[in-house]
Amino acid sequence: MKIESVDAKIFHHKTNQSRDSDGHAHPGPAIDATSALLVISCDDGTTGNLIARPGDVEDSLLDQFVRPLLLGQDPMRPEAIWNSLYKWQRGSAGKLTDRVLCAVDLTLWDLIGKACGQPVWKLLGGYRDKIVAYGSTMCGDDLKGGLATPEDYAQFAEWMVKERGYRAIKLHGWMPPIPGAPDVRKDHLACAAVREAVGPDVPLMLDPNHWYSRADSLWLCQRLEELNFHWIEEMMEEASLSSYQWLTSRTPRINILGPESMTGKHWTRAEWAANGACDMLRTGVWDVGGISPALKTAKLAECFHMSCEIHGTGAGNMAVAAAIPNTTYYERGLLHPFINYEEPRAHQNRIDDEMDSEGFVHFRNEPGLGQDLNLDYIENNLD
Ligand code: MG
Repeated sequence: MKIESVDAKIFHHKTNQSRDSDGHAHPGPAIDATSALLVISCDDGTTGNLIARPGDVEDSLLDQFVRPLLLGQDPMRPEAIWNSLYKWQRGSAGKLTDRVLCAVDLTLWDLIGKACGQPVWKLLGGYRDKIVAYGSTMCGDDLKGGLATPEDYAQFAEWMVKERGYRAIKLHGWMPPIPGAPDVRKDHLACAAVREAVGPDVPLMLDPNHWYSRADSLWLCQRLEELNFHWIEEMMEEASLSSYQWLTSRTPRINILGPESMTGKHWTRAEWAANGACDMLRTGVWDVGGISPALKTAKLAECFHMSCEIHGTGAGNMAVAAAIPNTTYYERGLLHPFINYEEPRAHQNRIDDEMDSEGFVHFRNEPGLGQDLNLDYIENNLD
């Protein structure tokens, strides 16, 4: 069995989300967007598929780095392929990013699952067949009836728990360019309003502005300790490991979770664990370069008796969360009062992460990553 082709198909679809100048998604009018379907095919007809951002699978990247390393190779050796891509990153002048590695790795794992007739989460360890989801809100905004005030967050949180069945919630606070943001006191008011709305027993988490000072971060953490929040993440620039050591040593009653966006894959995360810069480790397939480094992060966390909380949605992160024992939740979102998260996108027959009324996401038994893609739609809407 050998890899015969690696291709990306760019296709058009509508989206009702737009991104602000800092990259945060907010609801908006339906606009045209493009996505990519990355396809790896083998000589026996087996294929792996993945929906990716077009910039992560540009043909020039596939031509320069991916095809030379993958074509003719045995797809059942993902660790060897991942390492060969990783070793090329240093000499790629920044072009071969962790997101490119991730797109290739996930597509390869989808292919491996299909070749084996098994879901990827079982091939990786298969620890659990369902997981509690936390509802992860979008960042705050200035939309009337959206997430513009602490009361808006409280009302939405009440709906999430009482109407939709979420058992845990994470807020993303207000961040620039939203007027008035960042404001550590307003973040606190939103957290207090949500705690009041959902009662004392629902686990709550916060992902605030990412560039607070040590003093603001400590003030916020101490207020969240009073509100019995479960964790807070990425409230300071993560390149400063000593700032996170400083904060973690001063906040015994809330978990500091990280690093999320810091480069360096599992090696950075090992340094954070070994140096007391967090209470829980963070990894996500798109942050660290795929399933292989995400799993390594989870296993090193286990060796420190730490949980490893998975960042972000989608089939790849679901496979990792299902595979490992030391994680608590699946991040489901981003959610907003104006967006129907349950509705499949045009290129999907169903969403990856359907959730039952009890707040559990179940892992599926179809071979591969468990995506159910509408390939006809993609073929009919190619760029
Ligand atoms: Mg985050």
